[in-house]
Amino acid sequence: MEQILTEGLAALGIEAGPAQIQAMAEYGRLLLEANEITNLTAITEPEAVAQLHFLDSAALLGAADFAGKDVLDVGSGAGFPGVPLRILRPDMGLTCLDSVGKKMDFVRQACGRIGLEDVVCLWGRAEEMPALRERFDVVTSRAVAELTALAELCLPQVKVGGLFLAMKKPDCDEEVARGDFAVRALGGRLREIRRYTVPGTDTVHAVAVIEKVKPTPGQYPRRWAQIKKKPLLGRE
Ligand code: SAM
Repeated sequence: MEQILTEGLAALGIEAGPAQIQAMAEYGRLLLEANEITNLTAITEPEAVAQLHFLDSAALLGAADFAGKDVLDVGSGAGFPGVPLRILRPDMGLTCLDSVGKKMDFVRQACGRIGLEDVVCLWGRAEEMPALRERFDVVTSRAVAELTALAELCLPQVKVGGLFLAMKKPDCDEEVARGDFAVRALGGRLREIRRYTVPGTDTVHAVAVIEKVKPTPGQYPRRWAQIKKKPLLGRE
């Protein structure tokens, strides 16, 4: 894993010292070990963990400045993209949030093992967290929901002037266009869609970079059942 990470980060233009590479490799090993007992990831080869978890997450550093920022990772699962970002930007604050408690237990324990005791791990649903409202400079999310619903889970937690980074498949133009009404209704504005190739693979991914330009109206987020039943599509 170490070599793939070193070469991949260099290909992304990201500087990382030996301690950071080691921390990522150790977290990856802990993930694979824990995955034998608890279902945490479908990616089970060390090489693929390095590429599709760590390097894919690290590529977000090209989309925003994370230095000194308070970051929330919504639907973080086993800690992606949040934990690799925190390893590479030691001065950012990281809160991971997931609705599955065992995933947050893993992230808390594994972060403790690599010396990141200050990572906050919250078990709960993003749309039921009023205490997090407009508290974060950057909110990230990978593989959690379609943008129309995802925007309602994530944008309320972003400070005005902050960013919401939604990691998507490369063919996300339609999804992003469909989500535009929701993004605007929740106080956001699409800045750009950035595409990148995960180093060492043919995998192209995208990130929708959304700015928070005004506060989210108080009626959002709604309960999940409402978000699903009446998506913010602007047709009614
Ligand atoms: N982001 C991680 C990654 O890319 O490896 C995990 C992706 S996994 C496919 C989606 C995660 O989102 C699951 O762990 C699930 O529990 C979490 N999730 C889904 N809806 C959520 C919600 N409303 N609030 C918090 N977490 C949620």
